[in-house]
Amino acid sequence: MNIVIFGPPGAGKGTQSKFIVNKFNLYQLSTGDLLRNEIKNKTPLGSKISSTINSGELVSDKIVNDLIEKIISNDNYKNKIIFDGYPRSLIQAKNLDDLLIKYKQKIDIVLKLSVSLETIKKRILERQTKENRADDSEEIAIKRFKTYQKSSEPVLDYYKQSNLLKVVNGEAEISKINSEISVLIEAIKG
Ligand code: AMP
Repeated sequence: MNIVIFGPPGAGKGTQSKFIVNKFNLYQLSTGDLLRNEIKNKTPLGSKISSTINSGELVSDKIVNDLIEKIISNDNYKNKIIFDGYPRSLIQAKNLDDLLIKYKQKIDIVLKLSVSLETIKKRILERQTKENRADDSEEIAIKRFKTYQKSSEPVLDYYKQSNLLKVVNGEAEISKINSEISVLIEAIKG
């Protein structure tokens, strides 16, 4: 089973992905983590993308598409992926479909975590003290939310059309969200 977890920055995608990974034995593909690793390891790609990430904008589709193909093409992860933070634009959503066809897989469910801008700001500022992410200031959090509205929200309609979309209240307590997600995944597992 392949899952897409979708939602604005600070919605809890990473937290919920980790829970799903453990419970259903999947692999978490977080494009944000992959990109931050490039920066941490001071690779040529890392130096190319750091200013984009720190300004709250999206890295080019080509860069992330290449990163995810490396994972999708790996047999160890076949039908075991949770896409966390990808796709974030219509081009990426279409590319993901093409790649999944190429490697004979599909998306089984898209989970959208809904949260208000107020909650996002609060969570991102809390996370800043814990994780020290360069893009977690209030100003950049708002910018990332705007980027989400402009580039990523159109992806929701795309998944609505294919009947894959399930919306989960991301404002609830973490354990409650965990159980709601479990029920949805169990239902498609059959
Ligand atoms: P995240 O950890 O998912 O919040 O991602 C942090 C930052 O990495 C984003 O604000 C973007 O700059 C970049 N990023 C992560 N995933 C993508 C993606 N799918 N497409 C473009 N940029 C991305």
